[in-house]
Amino acid sequence: MVEATVEPLHNGHAKPAAPTVIRNLEPATGAPLPEVPVTSPEDVVAAVGRAREAQKGWAALGFAERRRRLLAFKDLLLERADEVADLVHRENGKPRFEATLHDIVPVAMLTTYYARKARGILRDRRIGAPLFPHKRFYVRYEPRGVIGVISPWNFPFSLPVGEIVTALAAGNGVVVKPSEFTPLTALKAKELLDAAGVPADLVAVVPGFGATGAALLAAGVDMVAFTGSVATGRKIAAACGERLIPCTLELGGKDPAVVLGDADLERAARTVVFGAFANSGQICASVERVYVDRRILDPFTRRVVELTRSLRQGDDSGGEVDVGAMTTPAQLEIVRRHVADAVAGGATVLAGGNARTEKGRFFEPTVLSGVDARMAVLHDETFGPVLPIVPFDDEDEAVRLANGTAYGLNAYVFSKDRRHAEEVANRLTAGTVMVNDVLFTHGVPEMPWGGVRDSGIGRTHGAQALREVCWMRHVATERVAWSAPWLYPYRRSVQQTLVRAVRAVLRLVA
Ligand code: NAD
Repeated sequence: MVEATVEPLHNGHAKPAAPTVIRNLEPATGAPLPEVPVTSPEDVVAAVGRAREAQKGWAALGFAERRRRLLAFKDLLLERADEVADLVHRENGKPRFEATLHDIVPVAMLTTYYARKARGILRDRRIGAPLFPHKRFYVRYEPRGVIGVISPWNFPFSLPVGEIVTALAAGNGVVVKPSEFTPLTALKAKELLDAAGVPADLVAVVPGFGATGAALLAAGVDMVAFTGSVATGRKIAAACGERLIPCTLELGGKDPAVVLGDADLERAARTVVFGAFANSGQICASVERVYVDRRILDPFTRRVVELTRSLRQGDDSGGEVDVGAMTTPAQLEIVRRHVADAVAGGATVLAGGNARTEKGRFFEPTVLSGVDARMAVLHDETFGPVLPIVPFDDEDEAVRLANGTAYGLNAYVFSKDRRHAEEVANRLTAGTVMVNDVLFTHGVPEMPWGGVRDSGIGRTHGAQALREVCWMRHVATERVAWSAPWLYPYRRSVQQTLVRAVRAVLRLVA
């Protein structure tokens, strides 16, 4: 629950004022979480100003010293992993196991990767141009300055902190607007960064609602790294367009899994169940639809239902659980609505199907059959623990169905024949396609992550993301001194020779 304070007006009417404090309840227990003050727009501007000053010293430190401090942060994070996992669990509602697997471990790996590789990735890059042999060309990467990070609540640690370490490794400062549902986790990350020797003003966390995110965009940042919904992503892109600053947009998904007739059934079923229900399905890359070769539909469905029914759901304070809570009331409502809409349209609930809100906020892991393309559950992002199973008769149909939404984040293909799987993988419109696996590449630091179509613009992680938080200077210098014949005054003879010379040279290099 996020409450807004209400301010009385002189005329006796009440108008909702901008909230000045964030109040949330633990999704898995309903217990109140500590309140967090909302950052004012003036304080956001001040934070960006301080980060800009601190950035100059940070960039001047050089790669070796930045590497030392980033690795100190990684060590501290792993030392205090239980404390961080506990907070992520309390704020987001996911089991501590998932907080460790999805929030802490990937950040430790990404930090180490950038700490070790940033120098090499951002090294001056020579560019050959055989038609200009007398020249020497290279590009140099410079930190952009202050990166504004705006994050969602589903990975309250790994998403903002992944963007922070990327920005820092390249020599930038960062101001982060975490989700209003998970500000405490971002503040914990700030505490660890400070303790690891990252200059206090270099990274700021500015808790607040959407208005605080908008204030950050207006506060003079040099780039925005946004992760969140398509609707907000469009606003961010428009605001960045107004200011002519770049942005990366990591948005929603409706990721399909295609289980081919030659798949390893047991492996496919177990992997798809994990992909659908990890983080209660609140992952941009969750398996939100599974298309199954009709010849194996029955055994596949039976096994998926069996595995789904065996999942243990709840608050993990009292013991091990597999599936946690729904983080926000609004998200629970979307899931409820998608399932109700599917059932009203004739779908069958094979497992789960209900919200459980006696203590905390849960939705049972749910498997649906008998769904059809008119139902929201097959084309809108559900972002919850719901797995619709759809049969297909031939692979062209599977590819058409898988590609049939506005999204293009991830897709998954299951087959024992790797070449067959890759043939299908390369027909899918998605930023990442995994064969016989789900989700995991977000945790592989070297791999580019991002979508096509409504799933976003730009990539996070890997060499490309590091270069995206830099601006590029191209330097053209000379190998041999040679004064070009096309300088003033223009001469007809040069004009005539130009085309002849170009034709001859292009013949040589073609
Ligand atoms: P959201 O768009 O509601 O909010 C994201 C962030 O934007 C929050 O911090 C919010 O306060 C802020 N915000 C809202 N309005 C704003 C405005 N006008 N200006 C600036 N900032 C504003 O998304 P959410 O519900 O927090 O997150 C869920 C979504 O995130 C899902 O669609 C999910 O698929 C997506 N997501 C994508 C990825 C990815 O890598 N592609 C990863 C995780 C989540």
